[in-house]
Amino acid sequence: MSRQDADVVLVGLGAVGGVIAAELAAAGARVIALEKGAEYSPDQDVRKFDELRYEVRNAITPGMQSDPITWRPDERSVGCPLPWQVGPLSMGPLFLPPSLGVGGGSIHWAAWAFRFREAEFRLATTLEERFGKDILDGTTAVDWPYDYDELEPFYERAEIELGVSGRAGNLNGETQEGGNPFEAPRRSEFPMPPLDPAPTDTPFVAAVKGMGYHPYPAPAAINSEPYRGRSACTYCGFCRDYACHVGAKASTAVTHVPAALATGNLEIRSFARATEVIHDGTGTAQGVRYIDLPSMKEREVHAPLVILSAYALENARLLLASGLNENGQVGRNFITHNFPFLVGTLPEYTNLFVGPAVASSVVDDFTSELVDPAEGVLWGGPIVNFAGDQQPIEAMKMAGAGIPRFGPEFKEWMRQNYRRLFSMWSERASLPRPEYYVDLDPKVRDPFGQPALRITHDWHDSVARDVEFILARMKEIGTEMGATDMWTFPAKPPYHVSTHEVGTHRMGEDPTTSVVDSYGRSHEVANLYVVGGGQMPTYGAYNPTLTIWAMAFRTAEHLAREHGARTAGVAA
Ligand SMILES: Cc1cc2nc3c(=O)[nH]c(=O)nc-3n(C[C@H](O)[C@H](O)[C@H](O)COP(=O)(O)OP(=O)(O)OC[C@H]3O[C@@H](n4cnc5c(N)ncnc54)[C@H](O)[C@@H]3O)c2cc1C
Ligand code: SF4
Repeated sequence: MSRQDADVVLVGLGAVGGVIAAELAAAGARVIALEKGAEYSPDQDVRKFDELRYEVRNAITPGMQSDPITWRPDERSVGCPLPWQVGPLSMGPLFLPPSLGVGGGSIHWAAWAFRFREAEFRLATTLEERFGKDILDGTTAVDWPYDYDELEPFYERAEIELGVSGRAGNLNGETQEGGNPFEAPRRSEFPMPPLDPAPTDTPFVAAVKGMGYHPYPAPAAINSEPYRGRSACTYCGFCRDYACHVGAKASTAVTHVPAALATGNLEIRSFARATEVIHDGTGTAQGVRYIDLPSMKEREVHAPLVILSAYALENARLLLASGLNENGQVGRNFITHNFPFLVGTLPEYTNLFVGPAVASSVVDDFTSELVDPAEGVLWGGPIVNFAGDQQPIEAMKMAGAGIPRFGPEFKEWMRQNYRRLFSMWSERASLPRPEYYVDLDPKVRDPFGQPALRITHDWHDSVARDVEFILARMKEIGTEMGATDMWTFPAKPPYHVSTHEVGTHRMGEDPTTSVVDSYGRSHEVANLYVVGGGQMPTYGAYNPTLTIWAMAFRTAEHLAREHGARTAGVAA
């Protein structure tokens, strides 16, 4: 290589990129991170209490004008650019674009920080054991290349370094009182006790206990007490969709990026939009081409190691835009989450606008392999009490059909019901199928002349069946809580982007059926790593980010071992 600007060039300094940059910088490698969004200053966060600006006008998320994504249900249809808010229940909060700026999605996430269950690492085998060999017909589901035990130390590291509050339910195989009795074994207790529960948690816990279920406090990547120099949560209620103004919510913007900068080995190039991996067509990457947005000039960074950590969708788009798809597997195996959601009202005040949504309890009694196969449910999911950060505009978007949306009747409805709302949610992943994938849209381009990503996906009947099952259980719980009204979201919702997309650059040891190895190293280009949820071959029924972080720590340690010492100093 003739030109070398750094030891590593990394694209996307979000949840994954922040962790990897910190590890490599600490190992002595000189890292240049290209980030298409801003490097936010902390004083921006204290001005955040503005629902219109953040929740409705997407102040810190990309818009369709700059980052179009098209969607079609099947190959017979033409992809149309996604509006970000659709449907009778409008589902705004669940129908979100990928994130933007240093910290990525970890800035304004809700901070549910679940581990996956053991069975979710061997989902294909588990389904076959429960339902017989034919159950996987029509899918491309395979087991992960490693199991839960391999990832456990990295889960632990993520919980400690990012800061997760909760209560263990299974310490080294011993069931713990008050925790989740169904969780996979953990080596250590959470670094912090659970958050203070929100008002709706009292009736939720009473109801589910009375029904014989096993509630436990949701694991939250939010400080329940001062932790590692960061403040405890103030229960401000502007949490999901907003940055944390006191740094209590885990974000690489307040944890790993500052640590990486402190080494002197990380250079952040913000407003730098990567367009292409530069490669010689024979298995070696030279660097990354990008547009410097302030000047609109095209530039290049050259380095012996290239890492894409730009989220599952953009990672795939960049590979395809760079002509890196030798085996045709890039973009295949797209999976996303469907969120069964119940909203309703209780007789008492619930004040759902206070505190983070995650200050709540969960039951895992209907999750994955715990549901009786006779129910016909392929994969269940947790039922989570959604307990806070419900500001008025979003609350209105959650209102059921028939509820007035303007005028005096609307005002009266809000007056009577806004402070009495409660809700529950769950997650159900689709299985990877050949007919669901992402590729480059042949017609729609972004303002920089690059093809938009096109998603071909629809909700399979098997997913809808599982969702109906969970919604029915939620209704039973709501009735037990004394609900005065309840409504649910459709089992086949209108959204196909949920910020929980995975599978698009599947990991595996077989280079003909996967894109990267278990560390994220490209099968096609030896010095290129593609890291994040896109590596997951199948999906759990839980929010992905703690698992994505655990995977990123595993990759980061591998990279520091393999490349940190080797490249450090080369470019000095
Ligand atoms: C509102 C919201 C709530 C969420 N709540 C939860 C939750 O409670 N629990 C959970 O587990 N997960 C949650 N998530 C999902 C979570 O944010 C993602 O799983 C996580 O951020 C993915 O990490 P990542 O590093 O792969 O992508 P990101 O964190 O999105 O980082 C990708 C980065 O790459 C940058 N980038 C993209 N394209 C380019 C390019 N071409 N050039 C340069 N830079 C680029 C982006 O600007 C971004 O900074 C939530 C997400 C949102 C938006
Ligand atoms: S609710 Fe807590 S963690 Fe969330 S933004 Fe407010 S202070 Fe931060």
